[in-house]
Amino acid sequence: MRRGPRPRGALLLVPAALVLVLALACGCGRQGSPPAKGPRPGALPAYRVDTAFSLPSSPTWTRAHRRGRLVVGVKDDQPYLGERDPATGAYSGFDIEIARMTAASLGFAADEIGFKAIASANRETSLSNGQIDMYVGTYTINALRKRQVGFAGPYYLAGQGLLVRTGEHDITGPQDLKGKKVCSAAGSSSIQRIEADYPDATPVTYDTYSVCVDNLLTYQVDAVTTDDSILLGYAAKAPEEMKVVGKPFSQEPYGIGVSKGDTALRLALDGAIVAHERDGDWKRAYDATLGLSGVPAPTPPPVDRY
Ligand code: GLU
Repeated sequence: MRRGPRPRGALLLVPAALVLVLALACGCGRQGSPPAKGPRPGALPAYRVDTAFSLPSSPTWTRAHRRGRLVVGVKDDQPYLGERDPATGAYSGFDIEIARMTAASLGFAADEIGFKAIASANRETSLSNGQIDMYVGTYTINALRKRQVGFAGPYYLAGQGLLVRTGEHDITGPQDLKGKKVCSAAGSSSIQRIEADYPDATPVTYDTYSVCVDNLLTYQVDAVTTDDSILLGYAAKAPEEMKVVGKPFSQEPYGIGVSKGDTALRLALDGAIVAHERDGDWKRAYDATLGLSGVPAPTPPPVDRY
C-alpha cells in the first residue's frame, strides 16, 4: 500500500490548522469582521472576597447583606468603562471592575452583584430612593451633588473633552463651539459646563452618550462633549470616523455614589479603594479595561475622606 499521500496531506493540514488557530486568536479570520477590541477577561484580576466583613452601622450594607445581593448602578454603553454585551448580558469596563473590587471588600462575590443601568440624570434619585445600593459610572464628585448623595473616592481623575468626526477641522477646542450643535447627556456636569461657560454653543441633550455619538455620525450634531475617558473609548472603537480634539478643559474626579446619610458605607468604600490601589488590583483592572483606549495607567488621585 502506498503511504505517500497521507503524510503529505497531514503535513499540509498542520500549517492550515495553525493559520486557523492564529486567525481565530487575533479575530482577523474574515474580512470585515469586527476588530478584536474590548476588555480581555483573562487579564482581569480576581478579587479576594472578605467573607468576614460586617458593617451593621450601614443601613445600605445591612439591607444588601440580608438580600444576599448588592445592587450597583452603572452605565451600559460606555466602552472600556461600563459596557453591557447585548449578546450575553455581561458587563465589563473599569467602572465595573471598581464596583467588583470594592464589593469584594464589602463581602460580596462577583455573582452577588446585580448591575443596573442608570442614566446620568437619574443617579441622585436612584440612590436616594434605595433603587440601587451604590453607583459606579463616571460619576463626578462635586459640591452640588454632595448636597444630595455621598461620594467615596475619588478613584480616577478625568477631564472634559470634545469628540468630532475625523473630517472636522474647525473645532479644536471649546472656544470653537460658537453656533455649533454640541451633544451631551442630560444631568451631566459636561452639559452644565457648556451651558454656563460657552453660551454661544447650541446644546443638545439625550439620556446617553451613545445616542449623541449616533447623532454625530449622522451629522445631526457637530460635536459630543463629556469626559475624555468616555470619548476616547468611542474614538478607539471607530478611529476612522471619530477623534478626540484639544486638551481637557475641566477636572472630573470620579466617586462611588452612596445614599447621603450612609457615612459608614462611604468610609468603608474609601478604605476599599485605597486597599485595592495599594495591592495592585486598581492598576491591573485599569490595564485590562480603560487602558485599552490608549492612555497608560495614571497615578490614582488621593482619596478624600470627608
Ligand atoms: N463625569 C461627568 C458627570 O458625572 C460626565 C459623565 C457622566 O455623565 O457620567 O456628569
